[in-house]
Amino acid sequence: MDKPMTTVELPDIEGRQTFLAEVQERCGENLGLCYQCLKCTVGCPTAPYMDFNPNTIVRLIQFGLKREVLESNAIWLCVSCETCGTRCPNEIDIGLLMDALREMSLEEGYRAKEKGVVALHNAFMESIRRGGRVHEATMLMEYKLRSGDYWTDLIPGMKLFMKGKIPLLPGRIKGIDSIREIYKKTQKQRKVLEDREGKSK
Ligand code: SF4
Ligand code: SF4
Repeated sequence: MDKPMTTVELPDIEGRQTFLAEVQERCGENLGLCYQCLKCTVGCPTAPYMDFNPNTIVRLIQFGLKREVLESNAIWLCVSCETCGTRCPNEIDIGLLMDALREMSLEEGYRAKEKGVVALHNAFMESIRRGGRVHEATMLMEYKLRSGDYWTDLIPGMKLFMKGKIPLLPGRIKGIDSIREIYKKTQKQRKVLEDREGKSK
């Protein structure tokens, strides 16, 4: 899990505190509690593919290194599995943190390093809006249309479909009205993210 070492200049104390406070406000987690025990990173299934490990992301935020954090691929490779939050002795939920960082990254116009990841993010969010949970078939169709990437993973996807692993018709959860209400309240923010999609492909 070794990552390449880089040298960066730290912002002044005010800059550090501003970024830390903003992130904490967005995700609701107290990052000051982190003492770098690495339990989050050791359990994270996607950490080997991230440019910065989950614990390092927390450290970079404490140092106020906004660009490094919001431009990292780590924030996009997190799959919100919540393993880190379960393992953390200080109950820091890095899944929630990563979610807030993705939105901040898009709002502030940073370019996602992973190709098509913003299109996938928005297709996922739309799928939740429609049914309250993800429906893989329609989400993947929407992703393909948004990203213009029609062929990648088509064969494995078809195989899963033929084995009945991908349901044909979307379902809808009982509390869909509550989900719709959340989307209504965050409509303005979502519009910004949709607009950013074209710039981040
Ligand atoms: S498990 Fe918690 S305390 Fe340990 S490094 Fe990760 S975030 Fe910090
Ligand atoms: S929620 Fe994200 S950061 Fe945490 S363990 Fe899962 S993939 Fe890793």
